[in-house]
Amino acid sequence: MFRRVEAELTHALQVLTDIQVALSEACIVTIIDQDGRLMYVNDKYCKITGFVSEEVLGQSYQTLIDGELKPDIEREMYTALSNGRVWSGEIQSRSKKGDQLWVQSTVVPFLNDQGKPHQFISVSTDITDRKRAEEAQREREQQLYTLINAMPDVVLFKDDKGRWLEANETALQLFSIEKKSWYGKTMTEIMGTSCAATTLVHEDDTLVWEHGAPIREEASYTPIDSRPRTFDTITIPIYRTNGGRHRVLVIGRDITERKQHEQEVKTLKEEFESIFNCSADAICLFDLNGVLLRTNQAFEAMYGWSGRECGGRFLPLSEWNDEVREWLQSVCQSGCQISRETARRRRDGESIDVSVTLSPIRNADGDIVAVSTIERDITERVRTSELLLQSEKLSVAGQLAAGIAHELRNPMTVLRGFTQIIQNNPEKTYQYTDVMLHEFDRVNSIVEELLTLAKPQAVKYENKDIVKMLEHVALLLETQAVLRNIRLVRRFSAKELVIPCVEHRIKQVFMNILKNAIEASDDNGEIEIYVDQVGDSAELRFVDHGCGIPSDQLRKLGEPFHTTKPHGTGLGLLVTHRIISEHKGSVSIKSEVNSGTEVRIAMPVPSVTVKQAQSF
Ligand code: ADP
Ligand code: MG
Repeated sequence: MFRRVEAELTHALQVLTDIQVALSEACIVTIIDQDGRLMYVNDKYCKITGFVSEEVLGQSYQTLIDGELKPDIEREMYTALSNGRVWSGEIQSRSKKGDQLWVQSTVVPFLNDQGKPHQFISVSTDITDRKRAEEAQREREQQLYTLINAMPDVVLFKDDKGRWLEANETALQLFSIEKKSWYGKTMTEIMGTSCAATTLVHEDDTLVWEHGAPIREEASYTPIDSRPRTFDTITIPIYRTNGGRHRVLVIGRDITERKQHEQEVKTLKEEFESIFNCSADAICLFDLNGVLLRTNQAFEAMYGWSGRECGGRFLPLSEWNDEVREWLQSVCQSGCQISRETARRRRDGESIDVSVTLSPIRNADGDIVAVSTIERDITERVRTSELLLQSEKLSVAGQLAAGIAHELRNPMTVLRGFTQIIQNNPEKTYQYTDVMLHEFDRVNSIVEELLTLAKPQAVKYENKDIVKMLEHVALLLETQAVLRNIRLVRRFSAKELVIPCVEHRIKQVFMNILKNAIEASDDNGEIEIYVDQVGDSAELRFVDHGCGIPSDQLRKLGEPFHTTKPHGTGLGLLVTHRIISEHKGSVSIKSEVNSGTEVRIAMPVPSVTVKQAQSF
């Protein structure tokens, strides 16, 4: 009997030892006395904390607890244990090195006969790794949450039944549901069945689940008290690891402004294209090397080369390119728009006059990246202007005809008289031939002048002596002046002034000014003509002592068709101004009523011709 008891006892002891060993392998075991002091710690404790048992035995159990919740845990544990209840919970602690440790503890109170605890056994498992993982997970979630809430995009997580699980601030604000309860509800449960937002966040996610991949679409939604907004949404199905449906993520980006901007750019582009294509003027776009980037339809109509033939290359004719390159350079240097007139040959060989306006095209930084040209066919205008000059000339010629006829009749009468004398007295021939020749020359030069005036002539710049030209014109005009006994007094300080000019044009100017002066003068009057060279400028002054011009009319001079004469054209001074400015000169008129008028013309004498003039 005793043996059997002894054997059972030994067996029980063996079992107990085994349990202790197994327990020690798996768990931290500590025994605490009724005063809260550590009486026993197992090897596992020492292994995990780094303490040796001597260092902790006799210490208060409180040294085992650490962290923010220490007071709460102690209180809770104390209450349970002092009432004889088992306490179980997570405790934060520290290793000897100071590292954080987490244990899951179960503390069992052992009671004495009076029912008071006389010792406590605590069995704990190390859960530091799990806690750390949880902590990291929580941190990640927090970061994600912060990120999602800071996003200006709508972010929404739903479960596989379409119930809302997470929605960021943007989403809540957009749908005005910050104060509503939305968690676990579907779209229509939150917003009602008639909600317009269902295009943005679908009530039913069947489509995306069937598609099995993200779906991107454009949706519109009009928030309360706001204008309609457009969203670029992406709906993403998220699967569990076993392939089951888990979540639906909806991200919606408000692209209203971008869309508007795109629309504006599109409209602008369309408007530009239509202006570009429908313009009657040829428009070209050049890069800074003079390579033609684009042309419009008018370019083809104007020149005969299509945009396709020219695009990406230089202009079709090399003479154009030289000119354009020079212009581009001055646009780039000045940074300003410039206008030029030039003549160009079309593909069919015809020559046209064009006015070209070049404008710099700048990028966002203000740098010139290209240059545009707007080219207008001004052949008609140039022709009209030529016609104007021509008609003025013809009108002058017509008006002069009467005086000329008269003037021609005088020498003719003289010549006839002499011819008759010669006929009757052939021996006196010698006596009269000189006078006759002189009269013949006069007739001839008057007719010649009249012819040059009336004949259309080519616009050709040549170095010519304007003093001589003035002399010729005066001769012609004297035929008129003489009818009213008006004298043209020449006060020429320069005997010769050679300037590059178009002879018949300059003569036209002299003609008109002198004609005006004669017309303004009283009978028996005097007109003074001054010719001086002042520095590198030729200065001509025509001074009459006629009726003068009232100051209010002085301003109108040069306007087309402004005339005070019954048969005037009102073109003379207009033409005068135009011709002189073409010759880079200037016209100024001083006048006083009843006292007379002075017309002053200044024209540059190029230094070469100045030298030439001096060497004569
Ligand atoms: P038109 O001679 O055909 O009238 P113009 O253009 O030559 O045209 O002259 C315009 C007007 O200017 C004249 O009608 C006249 O009133 C005034 N005018 C021009 N020159 C003189 C002048 N020397 N003295 C007074 N008036 C002048
Ligand atoms: Mg006139």
